[in-house]
Amino acid sequence: MNLRPRFLLLTSLLVIASAAAAWVASRQLAEHIVAQWGGRYVEKQALYDRSRLLQPIVREIALSRQFAGSREIRDWARNPNDPTMARRALAEMENFRLNFADRSYFIALLASGRYYHNNAQNEFAGRQYRYTLAPSKPEDHWFYDIVRQQRDIHINVNPDVNLHVTKLWVDVLVRDGGDILGVAGTGLDLTALIHAVVDQTQPGVTSLFVDHNGAIQAHRDQRLIDFASISKTAKEHKTLDLLFDRREDRDAIYAAMKELERVKTTVVSRFVEIKGKRHLAGVAYLPEIDWYEITLLDLDELVPLSSFSGILLVYGLTLLAALGLFNLALNRVVLRPLRRLEYAMDELERGQYSEMLGGGEGQGEVARLIEHFRRMARTQWSARQNLEGKVRERTEALDRLAKTDALTELLNRRGMTERLAAEISRSRREQGHIGLLWLDIDLFKEVNDRYGHAKGDEALMAVAELIRSLLRPYDSVARWGGDEYLVLTQASDANDLNSLGERIRSAIAATCHIESEAGARISLSVSVGAYFADSGEDMESMLQCADKALYEAKAAGRNCFRAYRGGE
Ligand code: GH3
Ligand code: MG
Repeated sequence: MNLRPRFLLLTSLLVIASAAAAWVASRQLAEHIVAQWGGRYVEKQALYDRSRLLQPIVREIALSRQFAGSREIRDWARNPNDPTMARRALAEMENFRLNFADRSYFIALLASGRYYHNNAQNEFAGRQYRYTLAPSKPEDHWFYDIVRQQRDIHINVNPDVNLHVTKLWVDVLVRDGGDILGVAGTGLDLTALIHAVVDQTQPGVTSLFVDHNGAIQAHRDQRLIDFASISKTAKEHKTLDLLFDRREDRDAIYAAMKELERVKTTVVSRFVEIKGKRHLAGVAYLPEIDWYEITLLDLDELVPLSSFSGILLVYGLTLLAALGLFNLALNRVVLRPLRRLEYAMDELERGQYSEMLGGGEGQGEVARLIEHFRRMARTQWSARQNLEGKVRERTEALDRLAKTDALTELLNRRGMTERLAAEISRSRREQGHIGLLWLDIDLFKEVNDRYGHAKGDEALMAVAELIRSLLRPYDSVARWGGDEYLVLTQASDANDLNSLGERIRSAIAATCHIESEAGARISLSVSVGAYFADSGEDMESMLQCADKALYEAKAAGRNCFRAYRGGE
């Protein structure tokens, strides 16, 4: 894997890991804040709801207690047939009626089962005795249940289906000494109050009221209200059980209710689950009516964790930005200089020195690496140049040596063959002529034999020097082998060639000599054969012709010049 994907992968992993850690930490912090804030909020809300509902109820309860405890009522309840007492009691009832919020009251007497009632419209003036209760009638069970349970005060909620109102009935036992004489009280239209409390539209907040058994007395959802709680068996009640998914949550709320019975003023809050969602439940006790107010906060709705998803977005953007910047920096500081370095190394490997690695490439370690490479490349390059120069020089020297005769320093046969081949192809191109002179020292063997091999060499050098001195710069001369020389000249015509041949011969004969050890003059002469070749002739035939001419010169008695005459 290349560096770039590796580093990008590493960066991504680091950013994602830190994002995950930040996410977990911020979630925990958020939950902590929500729990703290929610706890306080639910406490305030529960207390506020409790007081809102209680205020009017407390007043009605207090009035109902006075009503049931009134001397006139109790006297009459004990002696219902006494007209004076009955009159006084009625007057008292009407007094209280005008004070009750609902402007209505009821009294039911245990001994006779008689039920008295008047309402806000004063509809039953003079006929407050409405009807007689009977233990056998189901609709009258509430009365006999209250008496049987001997609860001094009982609060019950009942809906008036016809009027679409919810009535709170305050039932107070009429006692005289230890005897229960009946039940008196009033109704209170709770509809508006309950609506104000339980129908609050604040999203995520639900308020409800339950009685001491956990039976729901007021709830935004009418279907959950446990109407006529007193007359139901335990199984029929619509209780808190309907609200909570988990058994432990129900138990926790019931435990909170128990706790509040002891410590009446506080609010107890618990985390619960309702329809799979986390809620904070605050429970407050309303001792006056033996109810509990429960406020449920839907935490996910009030403080949705999605509001923290901005953190993830920020991290996502940070990740992208980090990757982008990292990529840029990596490219600029490391990868691009490394790529150029790699390219320069390749070039160097192929024998090309590139000066492309200018200064200022990369930074830090990369810059130092490049600088090292640059120095190394320069040293290596100059060493290589040096070496190549020397090799070239030596090769050229070797080449020269290979084509040069060591004794006379003229071209040797190989050198002359090359030159001749080049000259032939040039003459073919330019339709020119080639002049050849083949020279052979006369009776050279004798020189060797009489004066020694060294003197023979001296003679070979003297002849070579003289021939060279007579040639033009564009003519070539070679020691063809032994005591033979070959001159290649760009003669314009045969006469030109012949005169050169003759000139060389005569110059050697006249001047070329060596001295013997004894100081005697040893004259030298050569025989010369000439051949003036046309363009298009091959080398072999040219040489043969020149050789023939030389042969003729020798045959003519040596120290002679002969030009080749074709056909003979
Ligand atoms: P001719 O006139 O017919 O040419 O008679 P010649 O004696 O010159 O006979 P030839 O040309 O055949 O003899 C060439 C001699 O040159 C034979 C050989 O010993 C001698 N020779 C060849 N190479 C060298 C050399 O490098 N140094 C010396 N000193 N002698 C050489
Ligand atoms: Mg000879």
